[in-house]
Amino acid sequence: MESVIAKDFHWEMGHRLPFHTGGCQNIHGHSYKMRVEIHGIIDSSTGMVMDYFDMKALVQPIVDQLDHSFLCDSSDNLMMDFFAQNPMKVNIIDMYSTAENIAYYILQQLIPGFFPFTSVQTLTVRLCETENTYAEAFHEFSR
Ligand SMILES: [Zn+2]
Repeated sequence: MESVIAKDFHWEMGHRLPFHTGGCQNIHGHSYKMRVEIHGIIDSSTGMVMDYFDMKALVQPIVDQLDHSFLCDSSDNLMMDFFAQNPMKVNIIDMYSTAENIAYYILQQLIPGFFPFTSVQTLTVRLCETENTYAEAFHEFSR
């Protein structure tokens, strides 16, 4: 028997898209919502694909690391200079901080932790930047 289970997380984070010609080049923030969804086999001894407690233990540290930080793209020289002179909570990534890239970045961070849970077959990160938009990143485990 198989099932899909998911857990939702949320945090506040600042960013900007330096290349953007609309409003997104300005420093601003979002209340990010994220759904971590897994598909897998129900373990007959527990009745679970995975314990939600274990999911939270794997995901929450990343959420805590991002919460109330600025997500800075390493090619954004203006912001890199600012944070070099003004130490604040910042996370530096080597890509633009779009919803697509953030979902991919978080997925990559999560894959090693979920890998040992052999009942988990797929891992999906759905990142909502606003109420009306989301981006998804997806991984299928091959063991
Ligand atoms: Zn934004």
